[in-house]
Amino acid sequence: MTKRVYVKDIPIGGGARVTVQSMCNTLTSDYDATIKSIIELANAGCDIVRVSVPDKASVQSLKRIVLESPIPVVADIHYDYKLALDSIDAGVHKLRINPGNLKKDELRMVAMHAKENAVPIRVGVNQGSQSVKLSPKGLALLCYDTQRLMEDAGTDELVLAVKSSNVLDTIEAYRELNKLTDYPLHVGLTEAGTVNMGLTKSNIAIGALLADGIGDTIRVSLTTNPIREVEEGKKILRALGLDREYVEVVACPTCARTCIDVEKYATELENLTKNIKKPLKIAVMGCSVNGIGEAKGADFGVCGGKAQSLIFKDSEIIKSVDNQNVLNELLCLMEEYK
Ligand code: SF4
Repeated sequence: MTKRVYVKDIPIGGGARVTVQSMCNTLTSDYDATIKSIIELANAGCDIVRVSVPDKASVQSLKRIVLESPIPVVADIHYDYKLALDSIDAGVHKLRINPGNLKKDELRMVAMHAKENAVPIRVGVNQGSQSVKLSPKGLALLCYDTQRLMEDAGTDELVLAVKSSNVLDTIEAYRELNKLTDYPLHVGLTEAGTVNMGLTKSNIAIGALLADGIGDTIRVSLTTNPIREVEEGKKILRALGLDREYVEVVACPTCARTCIDVEKYATELENLTKNIKKPLKIAVMGCSVNGIGEAKGADFGVCGGKAQSLIFKDSEIIKSVDNQNVLNELLCLMEEYK
């Protein structure tokens, strides 16, 4: 098990639930836009949010942001270690530094100041920011070397990351890093891309690592509205059974036997139950030939029929209803479980 690090009141590692992170794409110096984005992300389920701190104006705004943010705030620092020191003084809850663009003595100064102020640091190594392309093992070793440097400077409140935009490199790098360290790992790709491919790449890389038990906090990095990152991160945790407090709608893929509009009912059920935090499984199956057998394990559901459909609960048929009433019946059953 990894060590536990607290980011304000949110634990990372040490058996804590896997948290979901995202990053604002507003100007941090624009307080209003950034705090609005943070609140939207928090409402979407984001646990920890990162903001870029590229200049002094951002540090000034950061002071207000950390006071008003409903979730812990991480300052993302590149090149200028003084901005890291200033962000600590501004009250930020965690730093993210990239050892690829800070000198060793600068990293030491940041580590010492972070330690004095009980601010954890994420050492985020990115393959793209190295002067020469490092192998996955090289990324892991660089991250581990930086871990040692930070420890020597006095801090042991660390979270580590080794990202690439390549799925297989990312998976291998984290597996290598996991052998070297017991600090919690922040898992994700860097420059994953748009929702088109970036989402598939993130699902594979983050999913494979979490399935192996590697990863304590995740970010689905996407070139889109960051709220989507949070939604997709939560879906990964749900798909892996790391978050069970939700209504899972399973549905058959439909075929020539399909008697009801499976896609419409399943989609409507997903939308209508998306805010319910209960471990519940509803099945929407297009026919009764394979329906109940295939939907075993669902709490309740429907198997489509030509004019009437079968409603079942705990694998037992409880009634048949006209097809136009299927959705209403399922929603009535839903009420029993709320
Ligand atoms: S449950 Fe019935 S309709 Fe759905 S895919 Fe299977 S056989 Fe086809």
